[in-house]
Amino acid sequence: MTMECRCARAMIMDYIDDRLEPEEVIPFIEHVKSCDDCMEELEIYYTLLSGIRELDQDGAMIRDFRQALSDDMDERCKQREREEKINDYIWYITGAMFFLFAVLVLLAEVHFL
Ligand SMILES: [Zn+2]
Repeated sequence: MTMECRCARAMIMDYIDDRLEPEEVIPFIEHVKSCDDCMEELEIYYTLLSGIRELDQDGAMIRDFRQALSDDMDERCKQREREEKINDYIWYITGAMFFLFAVLVLLAEVHFL
């Protein structure tokens, strides 16, 4: 088992419970998508846990766990992309504000000299 697999397996439960750190989500998904062994492990846990959770609820049964898992991974990737876009945007705004501030300071200095 490679180091990467060891890390991925350790993250399976946290992934299912949605407790991974935001920056761990995409590397984890990329690994399981490229590693059949880890994907199998994830599918087993996902199916088991989803099955147990559904026993507690009266909601409709998910029959195709594999599809549900694949949808879940796509959704989480998209969510991460959205978060990163927002982060980029925040950095951009912060940068723009610093720039404006610098310009103001410069203008004030020129004004008072
Ligand atoms: Zn693996």
